[in-house]
Amino acid sequence: MAEYQTHEHEVLVIGAGGAGLRAAIEASALGAKVAVVCKSLLGKAHTVMAEGGIAAALANVDDRDNWKVHFADTMRGGQYLNNPRMAQLHAQEAPARVRELEAWGALFDRTPDGRILQRNFGGHKYPRLAHVGDRTGLEMIRTLQDHGIHRGIDFFMECTVLRLLKDGGRIAGAFAYDRERGFFHLFRAPAIVLATGGAGRAYQITSNSWEYTGDGLALAYEAGATLMDMEFVQFHPTGMVWPPSVRGILVTEGVRGEGGILLNKDGRRFLFDDIPENYRAQTADNEEEGWRYTQGDKNARRPPELLTRDHVARCIVREIREGRGSPHGGVFLDISWIKRKLPNAAEYIKRKLPSMYHQFKQLADIDITAEPMEVGPTTHYMMGGVRVNAETQMSDVPGLFAAGECAAGLHGANRLGGNSLSDLLVFGKRAGEYAARFAQQSRPATPDPEEVEAVARQALAPFESYSGDNPYQVQRELQEVMQNWVGIVRREEELHRALEALGRLKERAKRASVTGNREYNPGWHTALDLHSLLVVSEAIARSAIERKESRGAHFRDDYPSQDPAFGRVNVVVRKGADGTMQVTREPLPPMPAELQQIIEEMK
Ligand SMILES: Cc1cc2nc3c(=O)[nH]c(=O)nc-3n(C[C@H](O)[C@H](O)[C@H](O)COP(=O)(O)OP(=O)(O)OC[C@H]3O[C@@H](n4cnc5c(N)ncnc54)[C@H](O)[C@@H]3O)c2cc1C
Repeated sequence: MAEYQTHEHEVLVIGAGGAGLRAAIEASALGAKVAVVCKSLLGKAHTVMAEGGIAAALANVDDRDNWKVHFADTMRGGQYLNNPRMAQLHAQEAPARVRELEAWGALFDRTPDGRILQRNFGGHKYPRLAHVGDRTGLEMIRTLQDHGIHRGIDFFMECTVLRLLKDGGRIAGAFAYDRERGFFHLFRAPAIVLATGGAGRAYQITSNSWEYTGDGLALAYEAGATLMDMEFVQFHPTGMVWPPSVRGILVTEGVRGEGGILLNKDGRRFLFDDIPENYRAQTADNEEEGWRYTQGDKNARRPPELLTRDHVARCIVREIREGRGSPHGGVFLDISWIKRKLPNAAEYIKRKLPSMYHQFKQLADIDITAEPMEVGPTTHYMMGGVRVNAETQMSDVPGLFAAGECAAGLHGANRLGGNSLSDLLVFGKRAGEYAARFAQQSRPATPDPEEVEAVARQALAPFESYSGDNPYQVQRELQEVMQNWVGIVRREEELHRALEALGRLKERAKRASVTGNREYNPGWHTALDLHSLLVVSEAIARSAIERKESRGAHFRDDYPSQDPAFGRVNVVVRKGADGTMQVTREPLPPMPAELQQIIEEMK
């Protein structure tokens, strides 16, 4: 018999980033008994790393902004594959969530007349990102933690959930292990909010930290929920490329929002050569106009560096492939050039981008106020995730909710920068509210003790295996497969090759063996993460095969154009009755006439 501690709550939140904390605060405000579980330390979730800001149509810097413009920008950025109701709720509710954060103590940068300052970001028509220098996520997490910690929420840190448990068709709890001491926990709860963030660790080059192995997606999939839009992985155009030890670390889009420009090795601003037709009217075609835009000139058009991330990333890849890249396989991002425009440029850069200044100084010995950075695409964000109801955030499994990066729908084929932090607040709140209501109206649910035993046995299997299959080696090979064959530019033949390789890695992962004991054993933790990585990677590869066109973040070299047949369908993934992964196409929810009209007007 496995030994474990049992805990009873009404709402269990898995993940302590922005979405999880906001959900926990809301559920507890409604009187629910709430626990938050997180894989690392409290305060260390990805949200804390967010730099650029929170997108919300506050209209503080440009009074032409409003929810309709934000909605239309989000839909266009997502190539109209977004769930329209989610995009509407997000645009309408984001301003209130930002003001609420301010009321709870967040100190945003200010306009001269004392309102929340907003900055430009790719794909947003007006300056829209509320920010705190380039440390917005830190302020957001600090505020949510300060606010949440006094509400009597139970926190379990360094605790990884391995399996969701059901009672009949509905959620009954979760099984987890304590990373530090190695013992097991059984959480009983009729409502669970998944807020586990992304899956960037499925790739070799990523801005994501070690804990982002797609656990929430795999947990939901195994519990019978539907995953959606898994082919849409966002490759952020600007990650560090040198030195090798820091490859993939994010260089915020805020650098471009403050005037940074992208250059190839010949000093050419190559993005001027390739402005997509649907953005041409809004995009500057000369340096002077682009600069005036970043300085707040309302009559100027945005520089091409602020086109959507998918487009900018592909242009960078083209420059590198065609031999016009920088010495270490990237291109140049230059903010120091603004000294030609501003007498106090160095001070301006240090004030607006303090983290970037220190990041490059300390990690690459580069002074960004004086010389250009070398940058290249890095795996950054999952647009795909758990399919949820737009109003409640509940998945197809009764009692299972999802919010934040691990949920799908809001961003469609490509997320706009800044739209994640607002997503966390808007839909974190909704998930917490509806999870609390669901729990309060539910009969008690009981996990099956035999299932609990089986999960515990599986978790300990790597200690019993003597195959010699090293979990780190399996993880590294998986990352290589995804980077090389399921990356920014995809081809059918390579995607199939990736699936075959993933099949072989799945067999090796089952046999993975570890030594030592259960107290803080990173080899064991890596072995346990492999299942999530494999599920997520397979779902990405299979969905990428299914979408035989190029749209947003998904680019198929063998189908380089958009195909109208895919214009109104999501690719969805479910676990079949025989245990294999099933991929189908399903129509998007219908677009209400009033939302269609907004899109037409904004065009
Ligand atoms: C460097 C960087 C900069 C960014 N800048 C911006 C920006 O300026 N604006 C913007 O909008 N977006 C930005 N993003 C994206 C944004 O930060 C993330 O998408 C967002 O923070 C995700 O929040 P979340 O609450 O969904 O999850 P996270 O903040 O990622 O938190 C996930 C939580 O789940 C826990 N967890 C995971 N698996 C398990 C498990 N099995 N068991 C228990 N707990 C688990 C983790 O420990 C963590 O606590 C940035 C991302 C990065 C990496």
